[in-house]
Amino acid sequence: MSATARPEAGGSAHAALRRDDRGRFVDAQGRVDLKSLTRDAFVRFFVDDLGDSEARALRAYKCLWQDGARSIDEMTTVARATREKLKQVAYVYALEPELVLRSDDGTLKYLWKLEDGHAVESVLIPDGDRLTLCMSSQVGCAMACAFCLTGDLGLKRHLRPSEIACQPLQVGRQLPAGVRITNLVLMGMGEPLHNLDNLVEALTIALDDHALNLSHRKVTVSTVGLVPQMAELARRLPVNLAVSVNASNEAQRLAIMPITKKHSLEALIEACRRFPLPSGKRITFEYVMFDGFNDTEDDAQRLMDLLAGIPTKVNLIPYNPNPDRDLQPPPFERVKAFQHYLVTRGVNCSIRTTRGQDISAACGQLGKAWAQANAKGWLEDARRIAGYGSTSDVSDTAPTPPV
Ligand code: SAH
Repeated sequence: MSATARPEAGGSAHAALRRDDRGRFVDAQGRVDLKSLTRDAFVRFFVDDLGDSEARALRAYKCLWQDGARSIDEMTTVARATREKLKQVAYVYALEPELVLRSDDGTLKYLWKLEDGHAVESVLIPDGDRLTLCMSSQVGCAMACAFCLTGDLGLKRHLRPSEIACQPLQVGRQLPAGVRITNLVLMGMGEPLHNLDNLVEALTIALDDHALNLSHRKVTVSTVGLVPQMAELARRLPVNLAVSVNASNEAQRLAIMPITKKHSLEALIEACRRFPLPSGKRITFEYVMFDGFNDTEDDAQRLMDLLAGIPTKVNLIPYNPNPDRDLQPPPFERVKAFQHYLVTRGVNCSIRTTRGQDISAACGQLGKAWAQANAKGWLEDARRIAGYGSTSDVSDTAPTPPV
């Protein structure tokens, strides 16, 4: 196996994402994307640009994130005259699901259509009393891991804070009364730490008690191991860290994760050692297992040596096979044996059960051809789940393929 990192998308891919000279995202008409503003920035905007009061700004902010206003007209806590002023200089971004697919195991996959025609996905995973949303941070991904389908797309562009934070907002709106998303994991499309500023702003909104009000203990950011950004994340937000280690030595990791050329496995582990963990917290190390590649007892021992001294949770992920890859998951007994080896030596280790495989919602499968879903008749079901139109008008609505 070998892979070469793709160059990052050039200026044009970022053109749609202009920040103005005060760091606010603006559209082509210069109108501010209100949902990309953290509470502090929102209040500043209301007070400085609109001459309104801080108290009214806070009510307006809650109106957006807790009452679900999808347009300036729906921001009914804002005085009519202020709303008219607001329409000249700002807009409300509302992410709408293009499609929702339901897996046999209860997992739901959302396809979101973005303003510029790109698409990203989120996956909602019910598991006992936990309801976890796996979210995307970029359209495509620049990291080019050899085994991951999202990597095949290359990086199209970063998501804005509003496009990230609207994923839990909009999924939450569709849930039955009393049901709430309990956990967020940044394990969807993209490398979250490659889009650090937007990610931090989106998660600030997700954690804000005036907005989505999620607990920082229930938010996990997963990374291929962008070493400097890991420290920066810790400095800015108290969320959990997951690291996709996926290999037990440098050569192995180089063969499947081109980022290793930039940040060696040793540098990554060193960064994990330095990562400021609150007491009782652990770093999750994701370890995708491939048949005959990284699945032996020697690998388990090397992994253990590598992680020695770091408060660790190892999460074994049997590889979800993708087309055009000469890779297979190990037989399940070998995954169990690997886990047994670690657990009996005192390492906290779980096996991630594959969810949503039938709808290509499993790890590394996001972005898979929607034609496949269409062929199996899932799209019709999806329209019904999403509450769009009648099932009979689906066949003449061509599904939008992801980028
Ligand atoms: N870019 C981030 C987050 C997205 S991927 C990261 O790499 O951590 C989330 C997890 O899915 C990662 O641990 C990744 O290694 C794993 N993954 C990717 N493709 C996979 C596949 N085909 N089968 C199983 N896991 C996969």
